[in-house]
Amino acid sequence: MTTLRIFGTADDSIVDGPGIRFAVFSQGCSKTCPRCHNPEAQPFEGGREVALEELERLIAGNPLLAGITLTGGEPFEQPKPLLELAQWAKSRGLNVWAYSGYLFEELRDAVPSPEASELLQLVDVLVDGPFLEGQASHELKWRGSANQRLIDVQASLAAGTVTELG
Ligand code: SF4
Repeated sequence: MTTLRIFGTADDSIVDGPGIRFAVFSQGCSKTCPRCHNPEAQPFEGGREVALEELERLIAGNPLLAGITLTGGEPFEQPKPLLELAQWAKSRGLNVWAYSGYLFEELRDAVPSPEASELLQLVDVLVDGPFLEGQASHELKWRGSANQRLIDVQASLAAGTVTELG
């Protein structure tokens, strides 16, 4: 049984990407951004362990979902179970967004781990980079600070250079 440590979930989020989305807040993040948007999700020993089957059952129970969003905490520091969840979601026609404190280039080049790079291959849109208090704005759509990029992952991987959503 595959398990994942999570801070929590949002069953019908409308703020973590387009449409109605199931957001998974993974537990644990090795970065320590000042005024982190979710400081309770930083300790790796916090949160609760959940079976992937439980998340899949919740997602499958909502036919209105456009996709899933992997956020945190740092989802790319638990890449193996989230890779499995992303594969499952894609097989059901759901798109996959992810938020990461790592940059696209770091994830592509397997800086956190080879598994993190594998997970990136399945992501449709990545919001990358840490939350920076000095660049924070409430005017930004789907991101908290202006340094974060909304990246079309598949186009960026194909082109070998970052393509941001318009
Ligand atoms: S990367 Fe995100 S979750 Fe991690 S400390 Fe920074 S703001 Fe918090």
